[in-house]
Amino acid sequence: MPPRRDDQVPDPVAVLRRIAWLLERSQADPYRPAAFRQAVQVLEPWGAQRVVEMVAAGSLTDLPGVGSRTAQVVTQVVRGEGVPYLDDLEHALQGEPPVDPQAGALRASLRGDLHAHTQASDGTTPLQEMVLAALDLGHEYLAITDHSPRLTVAHGLSAARLRAQGEQIEALRPHLAPFRVLRGIEVDILADGSLDQHPDLLAGLDVVVASVHSDLRADAATMTTRMLAAVRDPYTDVLGHCTGQRVRGRPRPPSTFDAHAVFDACAEQGVAVEINCRPDRQDPPEELLALAVDSGCLFSIDTDAHAPGQTGLAARGVRPGRAARCHARPGRQRPARRGPRGPSREVARAAPLTPVQGGAVGARASRSTSGAPRRARPVRRWASSAAKVVRGVVGAGLVRPARRGRRPVPGPHVPSTRSTCP
Ligand SMILES: [Zn+2]
Ligand SMILES: [Zn+2]
Repeated sequence: MPPRRDDQVPDPVAVLRRIAWLLERSQADPYRPAAFRQAVQVLEPWGAQRVVEMVAAGSLTDLPGVGSRTAQVVTQVVRGEGVPYLDDLEHALQGEPPVDPQAGALRASLRGDLHAHTQASDGTTPLQEMVLAALDLGHEYLAITDHSPRLTVAHGLSAARLRAQGEQIEALRPHLAPFRVLRGIEVDILADGSLDQHPDLLAGLDVVVASVHSDLRADAATMTTRMLAAVRDPYTDVLGHCTGQRVRGRPRPPSTFDAHAVFDACAEQGVAVEINCRPDRQDPPEELLALAVDSGCLFSIDTDAHAPGQTGLAARGVRPGRAARCHARPGRQRPARRGPRGPSREVARAAPLTPVQGGAVGARASRSTSGAPRRARPVRRWASSAAKVVRGVVGAGLVRPARRGRRPVPGPHVPSTRSTCP
């Protein structure tokens, strides 16, 4: 009997990937999704037909990186049995309390994410997996914003590694259009307010998120001077998690600074204030968010995802009342920036914001001002085929650099146990 074609056999890798996503989404201990991510990386290159043969031979666990739990799931999928482990996770997701309708509407209008990490710094997966997650969400763009060199604890990227990552992204882009993978960075704001990367490199990026990760307990005057310098840097697009607070895990109080001065500068410079949706951050606090609204700031609603499943946390970050109480509404056109780069051109091309009413960068009203439905999102129609292409690239194990003689992004390729930046 001739072997079945790959498109005729069940896809256990897709189930493994979904389980990993659900575990990340539920903020399970990182080692749990890591096991499923590892099995995806090991099994995907073999192809579905070969996996079926390994199930029949009982040899799955002979592969390094495939343990008894993941092998059990694969076997259940191949045999057409139910997968209780998956069912339980799906059930738990459905059992989450419903999102406030106003927040849900804002979430539904988001078209992308301007803050996400990969394993090049302290994320857990290659950027292709983050792209797949964004496609699954129906997003139209994703900015890859790994850390800058000074943040050694998070494997911040040197200039050479950032350039190499840029080549990876350039190699992916032709496969994904009109979806856009944006080249970005979460650059440290140094003690003097300067940014932790060469200006020439920042100038070539699509998105620069500038964040404070050190000396968070500095006095208010020092912190204000530092943040104002960063906001006024011509390459800053987004002010990341502005207070550095942590509200879960090991709590950390917000840093203190002259919020009026900083937010006024953001509004003046066209720098978006990030609404960081990480459940452990929820930054800025609501009283500061209200101040930023009063200052006329733009907002960037970001997940700061360190794993693909965390890209699904935006609905939680846009918590009931949080953005709504601050009257954040989607859709305002981003004003022209001063400075050498002008408006975030790649973002503008990737996400042409609609001049509707004040609101969030990266968001767009789901209905026009006349109330008529907007055009159907073409992205949703081609997302599944684009995802297949990306999976093919993932299966090949590596995105080939566009030019010969260039190396891929060097290590670390061990999934990090860290799930957040400091
Ligand atoms: Zn981050
Ligand atoms: Zn950060």
